[in-house]
Amino acid sequence: MTNLLSPGHAAALDAADPLRTFRDEFLIPRHDGHEQAYFCGNSLGLQPRGVRAHVEEVLDKWAAEAVEGHFTGQAQWMPYHELVREPLAHLVGAKAQEVVAMNSLTANLHLMMVSFYQPTIERTAILIEAGSFPSDRYAVESQLRFHGLPPDATLIEVEPDLPNGVFSMQRIEQAIRDNAQRLCMILWPGVQYRSGQAFDLARIAALGHEAGAIVGFDLAHAVGNLPLQLHDWNADFAVWCHYKYLNSGPGAVAGCFVHERHAATQRPRFAGWWGNDASVRFRMGPQFQPTPGADGWQLSNPPILGLAPLRAASEQFLRAGMPALREKSLRLTTYLGQLVDAHLADAIEIVTPRDDAQHGSQFSLRVKAGRDGGRALFEHLATQGVIGDWREPDVIRISPAPLYNNFEDVRRFALAAIDWMKAR
Ligand SMILES: *Cc1c(COP(=O)(O)O)cnc(C)c1O
Repeated sequence: MTNLLSPGHAAALDAADPLRTFRDEFLIPRHDGHEQAYFCGNSLGLQPRGVRAHVEEVLDKWAAEAVEGHFTGQAQWMPYHELVREPLAHLVGAKAQEVVAMNSLTANLHLMMVSFYQPTIERTAILIEAGSFPSDRYAVESQLRFHGLPPDATLIEVEPDLPNGVFSMQRIEQAIRDNAQRLCMILWPGVQYRSGQAFDLARIAALGHEAGAIVGFDLAHAVGNLPLQLHDWNADFAVWCHYKYLNSGPGAVAGCFVHERHAATQRPRFAGWWGNDASVRFRMGPQFQPTPGADGWQLSNPPILGLAPLRAASEQFLRAGMPALREKSLRLTTYLGQLVDAHLADAIEIVTPRDDAQHGSQFSLRVKAGRDGGRALFEHLATQGVIGDWREPDVIRISPAPLYNNFEDVRRFALAAIDWMKAR
């Protein structure tokens, strides 16, 4: 039998990994003279080494050219957001015109709902998952109130039907069908932030449309984690951030998708000058003439310094390719699962569904000892340089990111957790 815990086993898996050199392109924080085993890419991805040059390029250009930097030389600021368009389209499976980098996730969610949540007398309801990320819930609830609608009558929060906050597809399907007459919009996550469950978004979009609803996705935990096909899946809109799996730095400029069939929409929108067609924007006329496609939802000239890291970070994804990243991600979580099953089953339950189609990089680990034991394990891991994150009351999220984590990192997690278990 192979010894899953032997250093040789992890080393062999690392040697066979075609993406192994990407790790060298990251700055990995250190602990006691060694690199951390950093599993927090679901919260803040590590810094790609290439980021600094792009940020410095902007600073240097500003110093040397000032206002001329908008129109001259390499990486001009006027069309700067277009530099990330192609990699973003690749990441979410969209046409170039369907994606734009702008604002922040929650701001984009509001802008999308202004356009796509248009309640009628018959259809007022918004359907989300119970236990959704607070910002999404606040955004949805405040939109309902903005339209003068009482959330307790118009916000449908689908309760999970399986243990540990997991949903069966039948449950989601039933909730959509049961509310078909009154559904105006569905907002669903690509990957649920707490349970780590990934969803069949193509199916949810199809069911939502069949019910006559708009379907939008929050891809905060899915982008750069799972291969996505937003165009083919027919999503109406999607929003996501770039500081998690996309490694673009704290508070990075976010992303937004609007399906091409809405490119020339007559729907209302909150407009700003940067959404005005570039060909006429600087005539400074009084009439808003939106740029067709996602660009038409831009408000302001973008923070170039905030966009600069996304150039370096998204280029890595384009180079590695989402199919190869997904393949490695599955190998990493398989190894993590094997180690937990073989050595940690008494202490830890993996609450994320194990079926490949229902998870990404993240495994949410429920610590059987409860909150105090869980905190103790979490803190013990940190003393060993193993960095996950904590979700109340008893969950540790561990997310091996295929761009920079290796199999040895996963082994280090298991060794540290076994240590803790044996000392109890
Ligand atoms: C991370 C995350 C957010 C964060 O919102 P910001 O506007 O980027 O601060 C929102 N929703 C979900 C589902 C998230 O995972």
